[in-house]
Amino acid sequence: MAMTNGTTLVTTFAAGNREIQDFLDTTRQETPYLVIDTKVGADKYLRLTGAFRQTQVFYAVKANPQPKLIRHLARLGSSFDVASPAEIDLCLSEGADPGRLSYGNTIKKASDIRYAYDRGVRLFVFDSEAELRKIAEHAPGSSVFCRLLAASDGAQWPLSRKFGCTPDMAVELLDSARRLGLVPVGISFHVGSQQLDPTRWEPSIAQAAGVFRELAGRGVNLWLLDVGGGFPTGYQQPVAPIEEYAEAIEGAVDRHFADLPVPHLAVEPGRYIAADTGVLRAQVVLVSQKSYEDDHRWVYLDIGRFGGLAETEGEAIQYRLVTARDGEPSGPVKLAGPTCDSVDILYEKAPYRLPLDLQPGDYVDILGTGAYTTTYSSVGFNGFAPLATFCIGDGA
Ligand SMILES: *Cc1c(COP(=O)(O)O)cnc(C)c1O
Repeated sequence: MAMTNGTTLVTTFAAGNREIQDFLDTTRQETPYLVIDTKVGADKYLRLTGAFRQTQVFYAVKANPQPKLIRHLARLGSSFDVASPAEIDLCLSEGADPGRLSYGNTIKKASDIRYAYDRGVRLFVFDSEAELRKIAEHAPGSSVFCRLLAASDGAQWPLSRKFGCTPDMAVELLDSARRLGLVPVGISFHVGSQQLDPTRWEPSIAQAAGVFRELAGRGVNLWLLDVGGGFPTGYQQPVAPIEEYAEAIEGAVDRHFADLPVPHLAVEPGRYIAADTGVLRAQVVLVSQKSYEDDHRWVYLDIGRFGGLAETEGEAIQYRLVTARDGEPSGPVKLAGPTCDSVDILYEKAPYRLPLDLQPGDYVDILGTGAYTTTYSSVGFNGFAPLATFCIGDGA
């Protein structure tokens, strides 16, 4: 569990959200659906910017691309981490300036780089020479930053291996960016999503400082230190507050950049902003047992791994469930989705308990589901519709 130094731990606050509860109590929509309160995302944005001395927030759009959330964040001055032409169009149409977009995907088609450039995007990431050449050709003169490989230990949803390069490669590539007519500006990394340990940023910050130092010696002055996303939300267990993450990150920057100019700090939160905005309402379809001897119940919901709960893979993300019968006698359950695929199981090992009286037709509310649900929902596996979203809050 998260480490603390005496500070209070925080749980997801969608649990007590009045507006969402009112919506659920008064609206009769066909389940499953997600209801999100954009005001919660705005509050999280403000809490995050308040926690750091100075930082530029690039909201990672893939966490929840709900247009009203994007608009609300844009109005507060947020920047955006985008990964495709569609995400660029979305941010621009919701009021973001192209100068506030970072094309943060290390894997881009040449035509997509050109698309971004034609719409005014001038900040691109890379982690390989081939990608750097593509950017030089299709987004000439743009600013570029290099993503470092980072370990994901401590993260419940790891992002290691696929992205980034070693620091020595980053030095050479950023140096050659100049010769390709680009402007090398800095370094990024991502320590894994739902990262429970605030100290995991320090090793990458130390590596980044090494790259800045080496390049300063060659007359290339980097200024952007993008420490990525990974900031967690309290699904069932509380997590350390964002202030503790900010303190650990700023402390590491102070230590490792002591002999260098103070870098411009950027963060790319996705889950931290979006998770607590949403509650997913599902319904029980079936409660059954597999034999007369085993009293373990299987509870089948009308949403599963293909309907938006993809992060239950490996039981990585364990959501909090709420039913109207909570408080009554309960027993152990295994939870699964409604499709005809046997991987569509949510929790078999995790010790979930639900009321013994749970019936088909009962609602099950899944909390903290504003991030990485609608975007993971399939378009119609077995004919089940993609996850619907209803939006409340300012700007809705
Ligand atoms: C997905 C993603 C993020 C957001 O990560 P969280 O763990 O949700 O904060 C940030 N940066 C990049 C490049 C990403 O791909």
